[in-house]
Amino acid sequence: MNPQECLFCKIIRNEIPSKKVYEDSDVVAFLDINPASRGHTLVVPKKHSQDIFEIDDITLGKTISVVKKIAKTLKEKFGAEGVNIIQNNGHAAGQIVAHFHVHVIPRYKEDGIIFHFPRIQSSSQQLDEIQKLFKEEKKHDDFEFRF
Ligand code: 5GP
Ligand code: ZN
Repeated sequence: MNPQECLFCKIIRNEIPSKKVYEDSDVVAFLDINPASRGHTLVVPKKHSQDIFEIDDITLGKTISVVKKIAKTLKEKFGAEGVNIIQNNGHAAGQIVAHFHVHVIPRYKEDGIIFHFPRIQSSSQQLDEIQKLFKEEKKHDDFEFRF
C-alpha cells in the first residue's frame, strides 16, 4: 500500500485527526475510534509497513517498548486489572488497517467478558506433527532451535 493513501500514515502526518496519547520520533499511540474498553490504544510505528512479516526488527522493538509504556499507564493510572495486547496480521486474523499496529486493551473487572482465542481439538500426535514441521525449519540459516 502506498503510504500516501494509508489511513494510519495520514493520522501520523496529522492529515486526519486523532486523539494522540504518545509520540516520539519513531512511534505514535492514539485512541482507537471504536474502543473495546475505556482506554483502548493503538501503538503505531511511523515508518509504514503492512504487518509482522514486513516490519524490520529495530522498528518492531521500538514499537513494543511503547506498548509496554502504554500498558503500564493503563494499569497504574486507569486502574486496569489486566491488559490484552493484540496484533492482527492479514484478513483471516481480522486485520482491517494495512499498517502494522498493536492494540493495547485495558481490562476491568466490570467488563464481564474475558477475551478468548478460538480453540481447536488437537491430539498429542497432531502436536508432534506440528513440532516436526518446526524442526524442519532448522535447515534455514536464520532459524535456530535448541531442543
Ligand atoms: P485491525 O482490525 O486492523 O487490527 O484494527 C484496526 C483498528 O483501527 C480498529 O480497532 C478500528 O476501530 C481502528 N480505526 C479504524 N479507523 C480509525 C480511525 O480513523 N481512527 C482511529 N483512531 N482508529 C481507527
Ligand atoms: Zn501507513
